[in-house]
Amino acid sequence: MSQSATMGREGSDMATRGRAGSAAREEPAMSARSSAVRHVRVAIVGAGFSGLGMAMRLKQTGRDDFVVLERGEDVGGTWRDNTYPGAACDVPSHLYSFSFAPNPNWTRSYSPQAEIRAYLRRCAARSGLSSHLRFGHEALDASWDEGERRWRITTAQGPFTADVLVLGNGPLAEPSVPAIPGLDRFEGTLFHSARWDHGHDLTAERVAVVGTGASAVQFVPRIAPRVGCLTLFQRTPPWIVPRLDRPISARKRALYRAAPVAQRVRRAAIYWQRELGALGLVYRPHLMAGAERIARAHLEAQVADPALRAGLTPTYTMGCKRILLSDDFYPALTRPNVELVTDRIRAVQAHGIVTDDGAERAVDTIILATGFHVTDNPVYRRVHGRDGRSLADTWSGGSRAYLGTAVAGFPNLFIMIGPNTGLGHTSMVVMIESQLAYILDCLSLMDRRGVGAVEVRPEAQERFNEEVQRRMRRTVWTSGCASWYLDAGGRNSTLWPGFTWEYRLKTRRFDPANYDLG
Ligand SMILES: Cc1cc2nc3c(=O)[nH]c(=O)nc-3n(C[C@H](O)[C@H](O)[C@H](O)COP(=O)(O)OP(=O)(O)OC[C@H]3O[C@@H](n4cnc5c(N)ncnc54)[C@H](O)[C@@H]3O)c2cc1C
Repeated sequence: MSQSATMGREGSDMATRGRAGSAAREEPAMSARSSAVRHVRVAIVGAGFSGLGMAMRLKQTGRDDFVVLERGEDVGGTWRDNTYPGAACDVPSHLYSFSFAPNPNWTRSYSPQAEIRAYLRRCAARSGLSSHLRFGHEALDASWDEGERRWRITTAQGPFTADVLVLGNGPLAEPSVPAIPGLDRFEGTLFHSARWDHGHDLTAERVAVVGTGASAVQFVPRIAPRVGCLTLFQRTPPWIVPRLDRPISARKRALYRAAPVAQRVRRAAIYWQRELGALGLVYRPHLMAGAERIARAHLEAQVADPALRAGLTPTYTMGCKRILLSDDFYPALTRPNVELVTDRIRAVQAHGIVTDDGAERAVDTIILATGFHVTDNPVYRRVHGRDGRSLADTWSGGSRAYLGTAVAGFPNLFIMIGPNTGLGHTSMVVMIESQLAYILDCLSLMDRRGVGAVEVRPEAQERFNEEVQRRMRRTVWTSGCASWYLDAGGRNSTLWPGFTWEYRLKTRRFDPANYDLG
């Protein structure tokens, strides 16, 4: 068997890979396994947009006493790990980047992975984060010490304590491997799209792709021309709208460099245009009918074969599952060497895949485009609060936090992109920046008032979650489809049911009245 990525179901098996060299390596002294406990004011887990954003804002506000614990060997998170062919953002780059670190040099409206990764490395380097970054430091456990009022953190390279813990471990960082009978006995090559095996040549191979989500629609068109044949196993067809990716001209880039205000105006225009999307998703699902017409016309224009078109036509309301953008996915499926299979996979055999209709297809390589552990992120089993219970146990009935950030029973803990802060319509960086402002304001208050610990009151958390779930009832996400937005109990604990400016207003100031301060 030559399964290329480690295919363990527990995230840490699959996910500890930061590739290539680091933008800002730690000092050699720190990379040695150490048993001495280092204390910091703030410990940040993860060096993706969330963790780096936190670190950059701490620096910008004159705070130096922090570390970023990153299990990989480089910064970048999502954009370090997802290197599959065609990987790119699906929110325009002018908005999918920090407002406090604009990049006038984006080359396309939707930048490719390498460009986003390079941007994040530059952000880290320019903000002087090198001495704060600890690569190869997977956080294995974090427990609140009530006596000392600090977090005790065990990492792969020694212990730390911190007054404040910020989790930036990523909502889409742990690849999910489906429980398909026989998958572990497959004798060909097997990898997850988030751990692409670049050492494996797909040329002329019989390739099976499992899943038709955001990653698959990006890489299928790239690999289809060079594989022998590609079988795409689809459970539910996604709604797909035109992507309309465009190069950003050299003149425009020069303008953004010379007059940063021009880029800010562009960013604002994109922001408000995208914000309109929340109208249909959250407030008026019937408005999605207009977007559905656009998506249907897109499918009709690109797929002539009625049977294939039928297989690709969704039967749920658009937006209930993530809306995808692509101009080349449908054309790739019309190639003679590509087959769409809508029958369920029954089992994987040593050299093939069997579907429910009994058909067996021989396969050399299986690529899993099966998403991530979102609501069951393994990190939640490693964080223990005041009474010793883990976040996972505390959330056994569904994850709940106050403002998607603070959790009752977990003092001085802030979760970046925690429960109900995900989005279906715009840039996650907008939410991340709102959370950063909130956490910074909390830190200022703690400094000002000499507060050692802040813990959100259970009743404030309850009130907030009741409101979130009340709003959720009228959204498109509860219109009856199965999606990764929903947890095992069918509750949407993932998405923010509102405009992002509503969240921004709620988080622009830390609100001590909703907390116990000690
Ligand atoms: C393929 C893909 C495309 C996407 N495109 C978009 C887009 O266009 N627009 C958008 O808004 N969002 C997009 N997203 C969502 C994206 O995940 C977020 O926008 C954002 O990158 C999240 O940043 P983060 O820092 O919170 O998490 P991540 O980028 O996932 O970073 C988390 C970091 O934490 C580290 N880590 C995890 N656990 C531990 C541990 N125990 N100890 C130490 N380190 C740990 C990881 O190694 C990783 O480096 C996309 C996601 C994927 C997978």
